[in-house]
Amino acid sequence: MTAIPLKLYDSLRQKKLEFQPRAGNRVTIYCCGPTVYGLIHIGNCRPPIVLDLLARTLRGAGFDPHVARNYTDIDDKIIAVAQKNNESADQVAARFTETYEREMKALKIVEPQHKPKATQTISEMIQMIEGLQKKGLAYPVKTSFGTDMYFRVSEFKDYGKLSKRKIDDMIAGNRIDVDEKKEHPADFALWKASKPGEPSWETPWGAGRPGWHLECSAMIEQIFPEGLDIHMGGIDLLFPHHENEIAQSEGLKQKPLASFWIHNGLLEFGQAKMSKSLGNLVLAHEFFTNYGADVLRILMLQAHYRSPLDASDENFERAESMLQRLYVCKEVAEKVAIDSPSEELPPELQRLTERCEEALLDDLNSAKALGYVLSAARVCFRTQKPSHWAAWKQIISWMNDRLGLLEEIPSTALAQIFARRLHRFGMTEKDAKEIDLQLKERERLRAEKNFAAGDQIRKNLESRGVIVMDGPDGTAWSMKRGV
Ligand SMILES: [Zn+2]
Repeated sequence: MTAIPLKLYDSLRQKKLEFQPRAGNRVTIYCCGPTVYGLIHIGNCRPPIVLDLLARTLRGAGFDPHVARNYTDIDDKIIAVAQKNNESADQVAARFTETYEREMKALKIVEPQHKPKATQTISEMIQMIEGLQKKGLAYPVKTSFGTDMYFRVSEFKDYGKLSKRKIDDMIAGNRIDVDEKKEHPADFALWKASKPGEPSWETPWGAGRPGWHLECSAMIEQIFPEGLDIHMGGIDLLFPHHENEIAQSEGLKQKPLASFWIHNGLLEFGQAKMSKSLGNLVLAHEFFTNYGADVLRILMLQAHYRSPLDASDENFERAESMLQRLYVCKEVAEKVAIDSPSEELPPELQRLTERCEEALLDDLNSAKALGYVLSAARVCFRTQKPSHWAAWKQIISWMNDRLGLLEEIPSTALAQIFARRLHRFGMTEKDAKEIDLQLKERERLRAEKNFAAGDQIRKNLESRGVIVMDGPDGTAWSMKRGV
């Protein structure tokens, strides 16, 4: 066990707190997974990447994480796709579950131990509804198709504790459906009577299908009846989904559903959230073709998981450049590193190496950790000592283990980055080499303090649509959109 405690930000208590599992080393984690009705966009990849970072950090700190990430395989959207394509809801769910798994593999997400499906947890859901009804927390509503079951929010005194909302404010704010069938506008569906032709399951109150919020409570109950150490998901799920999970599980069992609630920030285009209705989606498989899965991984890891992340072409290219830089460092390290324990490491390098781990233990700050990795590389380039590169080689294996980065052979990874970039810009290899040569010449001129001539090169390149990006680790280039 590490000497430094792991701290995590808990959304319920709204502060960063030292994490300790409830029992021994075992850490039970549940993350809300996808509704499998279509291809995922890059925003959908953030929760599993953060979950993966959390599990790797826990393992590195000596804990034994047990992870469940679910599939919502019955839902209005799945039924709509099935009806449109003239196939069954099962077929739609199976197809997109398979695609999702393939994409998680490409992202190097460590396989969760549990991947429950809503349709395989129906009996647990029925039991929960019956239990809630006995406690006065659930009630039936007759509809023209059969019987719906609703959660009676007014009977659960803690409702709103996660989202810090009061039931009366919710009504005043008009943020919830006003449905005449319900006793109270904030009540939510636990079970819906199915319409003709829809998938349905038999229950004591008639045939129907589950409400989305109930699935997660039932899956958690099935896999981790002892409760959760950590529940996580995107911040967009905090209300009403997670609030409703709390109401269902805690209403029934009268004990906390989770010790820690972790929420990741969303991926945004400018200020707008990425969504199908806004038409600003970048599908994961398109991103993988244009940039590669590792670029998406580093894009997410170079920002703090709780911050919103701007999904701009510029940020994609910066992430790609960072990955490229790290692979160049790996190439150098593998060539020149000599393990010579007799030689003392400069304290600066020693400290940076330790700080990488400390950053992760401080609320999974992978952004800071990557900053230290790059600073350590700069020390190695400056000192040019093989023993220092040997220290950086240790950082590489730390990155493999904790961040799931830099696992490829550098020459292969760099060739792929180069090929994808050319493909994106519709350029030939010759064009790209010529730009690289001009930038080298600019670097030489700038080193000689001939800034005017250096600027002229930049201007010439810009007139051709090339964007020159100077950063602390050198110069990268990109192309203007539409050029
Ligand atoms: Zn959930």
